[in-house]
Amino acid sequence: MEELQVHNWFGNIVSSPCVVVQPKSVQEIVAILKDTEKHPSPVRAVGSNHSMTSCGVAEHGTLVDMRKMKRIIEIRPDSVTVEAGALYIDVAQELQKHNLEFYVNLELGNLSIGSAACCGTKDASMPGEFGQVCSYATAIKMVTPAGGVLEITEEQPELLRAVRSSYGLFGIIYEVTFKVKPLQAMSVYHKVYSLDEFDKKLPVLKAQGNSIMMYLNPFRDTVLVEFRRYHDTKHPQRLTSWQWKFRNFLWSRLAPFYGYCVSKYVPIIPIRDFLFDMFDQFMFLGAMLLVRGNNTLATAQQIRYPAIANKSKYTFSIWASPEENYISNLRAYFKFCREYYRTTGYRSNMISVGYRVMQDDSSLFSYSSDGPVMTFDPVSTANPGWEAFLIAYNELCSRLGGIPLPNQSDLLTPAQVQKAYGGRIATFERYRKRFDPTGRLLNDYFRKLLAVEGSMLNASA
Ligand SMILES: Cc1cc2nc3c(=O)[nH]c(=O)nc-3n(C[C@H](O)[C@H](O)[C@H](O)COP(=O)(O)OP(=O)(O)OC[C@H]3O[C@@H](n4cnc5c(N)ncnc54)[C@H](O)[C@@H]3O)c2cc1C
Repeated sequence: MEELQVHNWFGNIVSSPCVVVQPKSVQEIVAILKDTEKHPSPVRAVGSNHSMTSCGVAEHGTLVDMRKMKRIIEIRPDSVTVEAGALYIDVAQELQKHNLEFYVNLELGNLSIGSAACCGTKDASMPGEFGQVCSYATAIKMVTPAGGVLEITEEQPELLRAVRSSYGLFGIIYEVTFKVKPLQAMSVYHKVYSLDEFDKKLPVLKAQGNSIMMYLNPFRDTVLVEFRRYHDTKHPQRLTSWQWKFRNFLWSRLAPFYGYCVSKYVPIIPIRDFLFDMFDQFMFLGAMLLVRGNNTLATAQQIRYPAIANKSKYTFSIWASPEENYISNLRAYFKFCREYYRTTGYRSNMISVGYRVMQDDSSLFSYSSDGPVMTFDPVSTANPGWEAFLIAYNELCSRLGGIPLPNQSDLLTPAQVQKAYGGRIATFERYRKRFDPTGRLLNDYFRKLLAVEGSMLNASA
C-alpha cells in the first residue's frame, strides 16, 4: 500500500499511515475497525492533531480523522451531547447562545471533543472546580476495536474513570456528553511578583479563592499571576470579551511571531536577550493594564488557532508538581533554565507558563490524583536546541517528582512514565487488554511508553 505523509499541527511529528479516512457515521467507524485488510493496524483516531507527542500517530496503519463528525446533538440546562470531531470552541459558542458554558474554558479552542474526553488537558482550576476537561465527561460512546458499540456512563464510575484517560486505546469515541453550567461573569486581573515575593505570598494568594495561572520569566526571577473568579450575573448578554481578545492576540499571535523573528534575525546574543526580556516586560505591563475586568466572558478565553499553522505557531511541554513542593521546584526550574543557557547557549524564545490545578481523581491518569498541583511549562517556537532542552527538562522534572501528560509532554522515556504513574499503568493495561486484546489500536508510541521491563505492567500481563 502506498503511504501518505501526515503531521501534527505544529509540524514536528511526521508519520506515514497507509490509509487516512474521514468517517461521517458510527457505521463507517464500525466498518473501518472490522476490516483489517483495507484498514491496517494501528488504527488511531485523531481530532485536530494539536498534540505535542506521537500519541495519535498511525505509522503504516489507519488514521481516522474524526473532524467530519461534528454535530451538536442536544443541549440541556446542565449538559451537552456532541459528536467527537466537533471543536470545543464551536460547541462553546453554541452553548453561549443558550446562556450556558463549559466548566473548563481552556485556551485551545481547537481541542476536539473526542480528545477532550479521553486525554490530558489543563487550565487553572476555578475555585471549587476541576482544571481537566475530561472530568466533566459524563457519558462516552465508542466503537470498540472489534467493531462493537458501547456507552460508558456515570453508572460505571471506575470504567468511566479509565476511559477518560484512554487516549483512544480502548476504542474510537464518537459521542460525548459534558456537564455544562449557566454563564457566569468572570473577573480577571494580573499582578507581578519577584520569585521571593511570590514564595512569601503564595499561601495568602491560594486562600483568596481565585484561580492562579502564571507567566514565568526564569531569567529575571519574575512571576506574573493571572487571577480569575466567577460571580453571578443577571445580564449574561453584557459580558465583555475584548480583554481576552487582547490577551489572545498577544499570546497566540504576537508573542510567538516576535520570538520567531528575534531568534531568526538577531544574531548578537546580548541584543537578542535584551529584546526577549523587553518583550516579556511589555507583556507583563499589557496584561496588568488591559487584561482586567469584572464581567468578562469565560468562553472568550478560547482561541481558534488557524487550521494550518503559520509563523505564529508555538509548542510547549508540561509536567505537574505537587503543590507542596512547588516553590522549591520552581526555584530549581529557574536555576536549571539559567544554568542550561550558560552551559549550552540555549534559551527558549517565549516565556514559560504555569497553572494551579486542584486535586482531581476523576481520570485514571489524572496528574493531580494525590493533591493539588502546580506546573512550570516551557513554551517555544522550537528555536534550534529546543528538543535537547526538553530532554533535560524531562530529566529535571522527573527527578523533582513531577507528572507528565502523554499528549503534551514530548520525548518522555518509559522509565519517567513508570516513575510518575507507577501501579496505575498496570490497571490501565488490564482495561486496555480487555478492550483490545490484539493491539488493533496500539501504536509504537504507547507500546514503548507503557512497556517497562520488570514493571508491574509486565507482572500483571
Ligand atoms: C497552540 C496550542 C495550544 C494549546 N493549549 C492548550 C491548553 O491551553 N490546555 C490544554 O490542556 N492543552 C493545550 N494544548 C494541547 C492540546 O489540548 C492537547 O494536545 C489535545 O490533546 C489536542 O486535542 P486534539 O483534538 O488536537 O487531539 P489529537 O492530537 O487529534 O489527539 C490526541 C489524542 O487523542 C486521541 N483521540 C482524538 N480523538 C479521538 C477519538 N474520537 N476517539 C479516540 N481517541 C481520540 C488521539 O488518538 C491521540 O492519542 C495546546 C496545543 C497547542 C498546539
